[in-house]
Amino acid sequence: MRVDEKKLAEDIVRLSGTNVKKCMRCGKCSATCPSFEDMDVHPHSFVSMVEEGDVAGLLESKSLWKCLSCFACVERCPRGVEPAHIIEAVRILVMSPQGLNRIKPDAVPIFLSSLGEKGAEVPQQLLTSAFRKYSK
Ligand code: SF4
Ligand code: SF4
Repeated sequence: MRVDEKKLAEDIVRLSGTNVKKCMRCGKCSATCPSFEDMDVHPHSFVSMVEEGDVAGLLESKSLWKCLSCFACVERCPRGVEPAHIIEAVRILVMSPQGLNRIKPDAVPIFLSSLGEKGAEVPQQLLTSAFRKYSK
């Protein structure tokens, strides 16, 4: 099935909440990324490829699973473009149809008990954030 790249690019922009048109292609985001060496598509390329609507390849990129979500690229970008949010948006688009991006209430006690005594130390804010992020 042919991917509708225009629609996909619009979805990525909407989900990420970023304005890719602000990018001036300086490459500072990639220069500061700790996973740069392991990535096949680098942070600045995620931004430019979304801007150009050339996004089919991003769905297959191994960079989706190499990004550490450390937000160093977000901190470094002089234009406030937030490349990490773009990578996260693509990751969500890949995972959602596979049913992987879900957390169910029944799974929480099992998860906590698997942590042993550390389970009791998990902050409630973490669980609330996880529900917000992973139950959409
Ligand atoms: S959030 Fe991801 S892309 Fe950005 S600097 Fe960290 S590892 Fe690199
Ligand atoms: S640091 Fe910001 S402006 Fe520079 S290439 Fe990366 S996203 Fe674009």
